[in-house]
Amino acid sequence: MQNVSSSSSPVNPPEIMPSLKVGGLTPLTTIDFPDRLSAVVFCQGCPWRCVYCHNPHLIPANGPPALTWEEVLSFLDCRRGLLDGVVFSGGEPTLQSALPQAMRDVRDMGFEVALHTAGMYPDRLATVLPLLDWVGLDIKAPASCHDAIVGAPKGYERVMASLDLILACGVDYECRTTWTPELYGTEELADLAQELARKDVSHWSHQILRPASPRYDSNAGRTSGFLTGM
Ligand code: SF4
Repeated sequence: MQNVSSSSSPVNPPEIMPSLKVGGLTPLTTIDFPDRLSAVVFCQGCPWRCVYCHNPHLIPANGPPALTWEEVLSFLDCRRGLLDGVVFSGGEPTLQSALPQAMRDVRDMGFEVALHTAGMYPDRLATVLPLLDWVGLDIKAPASCHDAIVGAPKGYERVMASLDLILACGVDYECRTTWTPELYGTEELADLAQELARKDVSHWSHQILRPASPRYDSNAGRTSGFLTGM
């Protein structure tokens, strides 16, 4: 009788790399990548819950994509010669394992690459630093109130580790801190300034809080239900 059972050795299925989950796209910006005309790709997902987050729809890692990575590449293909660079922002771009390949895709098309990050994944930042022409590092708060501002523990040490990596590799960068007196006091802000000065940070900017943020309540410091989002 013919043996019809399968006796062939199992074949491993090909590994399928995930594509970048994209929560939005700005076709043209002059302010998000210094001295370059750029598009901004907003990456879906963020592990933090900052009290003033102005992109709350980008926080859920499994939020519905605004467009596919292939659609982003198709758009960029039409912008060759018109744009200088592409900014990966978020959300938190380094959350996604697909980020390095997405950056390589963009570089292969001839664009320069910038990253906006809050620096909570220094190991992942180290992986993509060789692919970057510029980094905007958000330093959310000084050590004493970092956990409260971002709604997560032990982030400050990670951000400082990311800053050390950026400074050591010599890539162009800017540190940015959003501050108003409702968030924390000037003494704490001075503490942060001193820490950055000790590290020889040469580019540090103060960002203005957008009061229209749906997550920000200037009386309470945060909106109710904010920490229960994801
Ligand atoms: S790091 Fe903070 S501000 Fe940025 S996307 Fe995440 S929660 Fe929002």
